[in-house]
Amino acid sequence: MTFTPTSVHRAWSRPEKMLMSGSVLAVVAILMIVASLLIREHGSATESAVQSANNVVQLIDADVQRNAELYDTSLQGMIATWQDPEVIALAPQLRQLVIFDRSTAAPYKGDLVILDETGDIVADSLSVIPREDNFSDRPVFQQHRESASTAMRVGGPFKARWGFKDWCISFSRRLPSPDGRFIGIASASMRLTYFNQLFRGLDIGKGSTVNLISADGILLARQAEQPDKYAIGRDFSGLPNFQRILKTNSGSFTAVSDLDGTTRLYTFSRVGDLPLIVIVAQSKDVVYAVWKRNAALVAGATSLLCLGILWLSYLLGKQLKLRHLAERELAELASTDGLTGLANRRRLDQVFRQEWSRGMRSGKPLSLLMIDVDHFKAFNDRHGHHGGDVALRNVAQTLANAIRRPGDLAARYGGEEFLVVLPETDLQGARIIAEKIRVAIESLPPYAGDRHSVTVSIGIASRQPNAGDKQAQLFSDADEALYRAKHNGRNRTEFNSSPKTA
Ligand code: GH3
Ligand code: MG
Ligand code: MG
Repeated sequence: MTFTPTSVHRAWSRPEKMLMSGSVLAVVAILMIVASLLIREHGSATESAVQSANNVVQLIDADVQRNAELYDTSLQGMIATWQDPEVIALAPQLRQLVIFDRSTAAPYKGDLVILDETGDIVADSLSVIPREDNFSDRPVFQQHRESASTAMRVGGPFKARWGFKDWCISFSRRLPSPDGRFIGIASASMRLTYFNQLFRGLDIGKGSTVNLISADGILLARQAEQPDKYAIGRDFSGLPNFQRILKTNSGSFTAVSDLDGTTRLYTFSRVGDLPLIVIVAQSKDVVYAVWKRNAALVAGATSLLCLGILWLSYLLGKQLKLRHLAERELAELASTDGLTGLANRRRLDQVFRQEWSRGMRSGKPLSLLMIDVDHFKAFNDRHGHHGGDVALRNVAQTLANAIRRPGDLAARYGGEEFLVVLPETDLQGARIIAEKIRVAIESLPPYAGDRHSVTVSIGIASRQPNAGDKQAQLFSDADEALYRAKHNGRNRTEFNSSPKTA
């Protein structure tokens, strides 16, 4: 294991990663909370728009139903008097007054008539002598003829052929005959101006329209903020949105308009039992205008907040990383020898203690090589101190290259002495490595044309760490072996053969 100042990690370490993931989580939580609030607000905007549209729908519904009842009262009055023989016996002028007496209360009423079974007018509110007209072509007349029901029917819309000649709908009832035969109908028409008048009084909001449509899809009345091109009498029956409305009695939904492509919120309801439907269409842009403004503000502020959090965390993380790196660098400097880049004595002591304890636990031998450069004083004398330093660095590099296992450590012990700690290595293994080192150093090219190569003597010691042993003993063993190597001629390895040696 060697130490060089370049072995500093550049990647983010755990605290920085935790900081960043913490702030990313916080940002995600903030975004989720804000999004759920905005979704809820959107829901309430829809709800209040539907509610106000419903109010309008109900108001119209109530008013139209009240008027339909008034028309029905008129029709029943007409039928009752028409079938009274005493009334029939009256002079035509008086008879007309009596028959149409109860029919004056309905607002925007058109003409009221009684038709015989062929569709000819037999009593007419407009003239004492009934107009010469036949209404058998009207679908509602045909419906009465074909069905025995005496319930009131709504017909039209149609353009009146007499009077104001504007758009009307009709309320009519089949004349009852004792034997159930079809003998004609009583019919009252109502001018659609009535609805326009009714709608005009409503506050429907910008961009919205109120529409009255017959159950078969004919536009009867429409109130828009701005006059538009949709004429009374237009047929909407084929449009998908209208089909959807027909499926239920009342409700609301958001859909793209089949006519102009804008998205609208449609709220609709059937008017009582009548074949009429009120539809309030509100522009989505208007319904959600306030929500959109608030959402943009909240989204903007939240984005700034989240960016701020992320940016601050990033800066903090960067500072933490720098501090981390500085601490690492300091720690490495404190454990590295300045000249050779090998571990220094401090680090050596630390590692040796660790490996000794590990050896005690694992029961595996621990070996030590004590290496001393031969005749280094003389080398220094020949090449100067700088030359000596270069040679020491070369020796250190060779040592570093010679050890392979992650637990191995080469350290400078002092001056021109080095130590190699070899955990989990027995004497035989240590001798092989020592010899390898010796040969490698001897094989280094001679310094600056020197006749002699740099050589080293190596003392080897190995033992199985035991609780009773002194750690220093291994050092003494290695030192002793080194002494012998020097004594026996240098450039050689010797091992301690004491009985305790593993
Ligand atoms: P021996 O073979 O018996 O080991 O002889 P030696 O000359 O190597 O032994 P001695 O201990 O007498 O000399 C060691 C010399 O190493 C002394 C000193 O000049 C030199 N030395 C120690 N540290 C350094 C250093 O950091 N740089 C340089 N250039 N020389 C050093
Ligand atoms: Mg020495
Ligand atoms: Mg020496």
